[in-house]
Amino acid sequence: MSMQKDYEAYIERRKAMATTHFGPLWLNQEQPQHPFRIFGNVWYVGDSWVCVHLIDTGDGLLLIDSGNAGASAMLIQAIWEAGFNPADVKWIIHSHGHLDHIGAAIFFKRMFGTKLYLGEPDARMFRERPWISAIQNAYNDCDALFEPDYEIKEGDVLTFGNTTMTFYMVPGHTDGCIAIFFDAHDGDRTVRCGYYGGFGFNTLQKDYLIEIGDPEYRTREIYLQSLAKVRNQKVELFLGNHCINNDTLGRRQKQLENPDGPNPFLDSELWGKYLDQKRDELLKFMADPKNN
Ligand SMILES: [Zn+2]
Repeated sequence: MSMQKDYEAYIERRKAMATTHFGPLWLNQEQPQHPFRIFGNVWYVGDSWVCVHLIDTGDGLLLIDSGNAGASAMLIQAIWEAGFNPADVKWIIHSHGHLDHIGAAIFFKRMFGTKLYLGEPDARMFRERPWISAIQNAYNDCDALFEPDYEIKEGDVLTFGNTTMTFYMVPGHTDGCIAIFFDAHDGDRTVRCGYYGGFGFNTLQKDYLIEIGDPEYRTREIYLQSLAKVRNQKVELFLGNHCINNDTLGRRQKQLENPDGPNPFLDSELWGKYLDQKRDELLKFMADPKNN
């Protein structure tokens, strides 16, 4: 009889999970967040840690990222609650190939035939070095990587319904991080949106870089070059990759407190300021002997 042993092994796995970086977030999916309109046809449908944005293109819905592993039910609920039907999601553009941004990708593809997009270098990573996605840290053998329908390349200009997006590769956090620029519409008003697909320094740590075969830490220089490449894009609405990037929930709070006031998400300075802040933080990190 192995049921009892299987159960004990399961309890051991849960205990081990609690000690990992992501584990507590999955053991207690405590981050539900009500969806809300950011501006015009751009909605927030992510949780309180990992962003997911929904763009109503007038000819189908587009998601930027598909949420954390284990958070698919939350995402589906958020899309309904925002007043949309998840079956209308035609495209999912993935910021990069880490497990906390690809959670519902396979579900959407199987259920609704959604087309999945991912930067070409991360698509290659899925094929050749899939462990870099950290999917194994989801502690769920039912989670899996996907084969993208389209691999995004530098300079791609792609049209989805009424929305044309320009893509740049911004390697650093992963090799296949993408930046996206597009117009959002609210009646007659148009604003330029900017999105940067991954800022975390967790993948710039020395042990990590040595393990992936970059003992000279070139990835850090590449990260700096990526910031500089898109730093001067015109961005009136900076969309976060994680909520911490643009204080998504603080701005949402302002929206709730002053619904008739100026839109707290519209800020032409924020993109440049935040990219400069990451540059300065990285230079400091690189100068610190304990990181070398
Ligand atoms: Zn990541």
